[in-house]
Amino acid sequence: MSEPFPAAGPSQPLSRRARVTFLGTGTSHGVPMIGCACATCRSTDPRDSRLRPSIYLEVDGGPSVLIDTSTDLRQQALVRGVSRVDAILFTHSHADHVMGLDEVRRFNMLQKAAIPAYADARTAADLRRTFAYIFDAADQKGGGVPQIALETIAGPLAVGPLRVQPITILHGVRPILGFRFNAFAYLTDCNRIPDESWPLLDGLDVLVLDALRHRPHPTHFSVSEALEVVARLKPRQTYFTHICHDLPHVATNAALPTGVELAYDGLTLEIDV
Ligand SMILES: [Zn+2]
Ligand SMILES: [Zn+2]
Ligand SMILES: [Zn+2]
Repeated sequence: MSEPFPAAGPSQPLSRRARVTFLGTGTSHGVPMIGCACATCRSTDPRDSRLRPSIYLEVDGGPSVLIDTSTDLRQQALVRGVSRVDAILFTHSHADHVMGLDEVRRFNMLQKAAIPAYADARTAADLRRTFAYIFDAADQKGGGVPQIALETIAGPLAVGPLRVQPITILHGVRPILGFRFNAFAYLTDCNRIPDESWPLLDGLDVLVLDALRHRPHPTHFSVSEALEVVARLKPRQTYFTHICHDLPHVATNAALPTGVELAYDGLTLEIDV
């Protein structure tokens, strides 16, 4: 990839500050849900409004990395002031995580460059099929298509100076990817952590973890299941994400143990990467 920011090297500091912004913390339907009049969907607390799941990681001096291109990417970029994307990391190819991919055209125009994107083999294949117009060079360009340099993740990778540890997690029967950056990990869309992935999650400072609702679900952790993961990993701080309308923000947080909170759209964290 062409490097708009310096690569890691002896002259670079070992760690850099970075800012994480939660662009969306909702489940696939978003909250409020279409046609629902429950208390959460009617809430006027902005933390009860949840766009589709995605985070944005800005490393001091670059790169700025988007995790997933949610259905709501245009709105998220406008509201949160996202004006640069140096790379995209995909967790998996479900619609709520990829359907904003066409919005990447704006970043191509602003940056006058293709944007590298990284995904596991299944997700890369799904993206090539779902977005054939992007990846099929024979198609007429029309109003422009995103310029994406799609690469398959085969292990730890570096995006400029940012070291990325992919972590296999199970979303029902499907293995998908979580990502770890130094002592921060983002694990959306999962209901089980396979044996080989637990050691990769040792020593976390901040964990972001799927917690859909209280009732069990075949492909997402419930709150109590997510708390079992927290009890085993013991991160300093945990934020739950991919939240449905069953969990009102204030009341749910009041019942969570110290060091565990629901994330919300617009929440920002300072981390070292
Ligand atoms: Zn999802
Ligand atoms: Zn509702
Ligand atoms: Zn999913």
